[in-house]
Amino acid sequence: MIIAVGRGVAEIQRLELQESNDNEHVNLHYTVQNPEYFAGKRVLVSGGGNSAVDWAIELAKVAQRVNVVHRQSEFRAMERNVSEMYEIADVRTPYQITQLQTNGERINQVGITHTLNREHILLDVDEVVISHGYTSNLSDLASCGLKMSDGMVLMSQHAETNLPGVFAAGDCATNESKVRLIAGAFNDAIVAVNRAKLYLNPEAARMAYVSSHNELFRDKNRSISRS
Ligand SMILES: Cc1cc2nc3c(=O)[nH]c(=O)nc-3n(C[C@H](O)[C@H](O)[C@H](O)COP(=O)(O)OP(=O)(O)OC[C@H]3O[C@@H](n4cnc5c(N)ncnc54)[C@H](O)[C@@H]3O)c2cc1C
Repeated sequence: MIIAVGRGVAEIQRLELQESNDNEHVNLHYTVQNPEYFAGKRVLVSGGGNSAVDWAIELAKVAQRVNVVHRQSEFRAMERNVSEMYEIADVRTPYQITQLQTNGERINQVGITHTLNREHILLDVDEVVISHGYTSNLSDLASCGLKMSDGMVLMSQHAETNLPGVFAAGDCATNESKVRLIAGAFNDAIVAVNRAKLYLNPEAARMAYVSSHNELFRDKNRSISRS
């Protein structure tokens, strides 16, 4: 068995305010599907990752004004984009949303509070975009008896888990040399498949090798090289 469930089922991290609720506030967004919808409006973006920064930049091109609030002083996003955002948006850190002032079903003012000195500011808004990332949970895997590390399945450098015959690959798995990129996930998958093959057949080749060297493809490769 090869486990490759990524970070599990991802759920949007909601704004942690009692009165915040999608159904009640039509202008509270967790995704931006059509930037043109925000044209000419006063938009507040909350968040500090790549998505928040990217959306702030895109929306600042069409909106009347974009405020960005982030509870940390530093953004966890590409430096070049963060610099661009500072040039075209009104960025306030370290602030977090503490209040939503509503006018019927729409939010018309957002209260933000400085996380250190508790200064409170009210900002007029037409639209609010929350980009606080995603939560995911792989704890079901732990309850199957898999050894975990930092919430991920602990694997050896050969993609083996602590359970014989169970291998892991991609974002759900970790070890000291883990590369948390698409290329790393591909590499894990190759190693896991190879090790699974060895588990089933201890006589199988220990290393992955290119298909042109594989006996199974010999005739096919010859016909290709002749044509
Ligand atoms: C916002 C963001 C930007 C990124 N940008 C880059 C980038 O620019 N370049 C780069 O190289 N990497 C990037 N990455 C990392 C890259 O996306 C991951 O490393 C890669 O997708 C991991 O592949 P995976 O197959 O392990 O997981 P995933 O691609 O997440 O695939 C896991 C799959 O398993 C499914 N699944 C989950 N739970 C279950 C279950 N219980 N049963 C069955 N199926 C299940 C999921 O639906 C999903 O289809 C980014 C990641 C994020 C979050």
